[in-house]
Amino acid sequence: MIHYVVLTTGSCGNCYIFTDGTDTIVVDAGVTFSKMQRGLESHGIAADTIRSVFLTHLHPDHSKGVGVVQRKLGIPAYMSEIAKAENSVVIDKQRMERPLINTFSFGEEISVGSFTLFPFRSFHDSAGSAGYLIRCRGRSFFLLTDTGRIPDEAFPMARDADVEFIEANYDDDMLEGGMYPAALKRRIKGEYGHLSNDASVDFAARTARQGDSVYFVHLSRNNNTPDLVRQSIVRRIPSGIFCKVCERGETFEGFIDDEEERQGKEAGAGA
Ligand SMILES: [Zn+2]
Ligand SMILES: [Zn+2]
Repeated sequence: MIHYVVLTTGSCGNCYIFTDGTDTIVVDAGVTFSKMQRGLESHGIAADTIRSVFLTHLHPDHSKGVGVVQRKLGIPAYMSEIAKAENSVVIDKQRMERPLINTFSFGEEISVGSFTLFPFRSFHDSAGSAGYLIRCRGRSFFLLTDTGRIPDEAFPMARDADVEFIEANYDDDMLEGGMYPAALKRRIKGEYGHLSNDASVDFAARTARQGDSVYFVHLSRNNNTPDLVRQSIVRRIPSGIFCKVCERGETFEGFIDDEEERQGKEAGAGA
């Protein structure tokens, strides 16, 4: 059984946890260590099973807790080599432990316990930002947040995944008609900004298969509402695909049989 938790998501903080009970990985640590600890406890995940933190990018809502996690748990944080090279000031400001930073280049695969991660480049105004395909015990998870556009290689990866986590940041009309200054609107909509509901839901419609799950994450407080994302889902995504809109700051969890359990159940049903 693989257990996954969206501990929190949005500009207030982002943190995802994946565990098979033996090994645990965390993607983004934009929360305080005490919040992470409470989340782990309430979901029955032992902190000493955490092997590594993987960062999508170094904006504080994704990385502000990393330094403390590194020190408290003595575990490495992974980021792209570009992210490390170009974010020196941020790394020091957020008091990350340099000796506990591991880097990857895009296209590389990284094995940590039961998990294998395939990082890919995303488009965001934080150098070296990444999305991940995560494999564990025959199952795959796709995670892409904070990106102005969807990279081509994300499509086959998401098609391969059983569970997708994808940013649905803003509704076009709300952003356009909203109070943000023009420059900020351009930044959000730009190639290195964030994904709109339409782009996100369209991507999910093109990549999710029957039986898959899609979690829409990182909704903007000012330029989106969960209902707008849901309306877009109803218009575009067929039934048979489980869709969940993750409201800002709330926690969501799911479980999925690993491949061995799935085959066992199929064999049992056939007997
Ligand atoms: Zn963010
Ligand atoms: Zn960001």
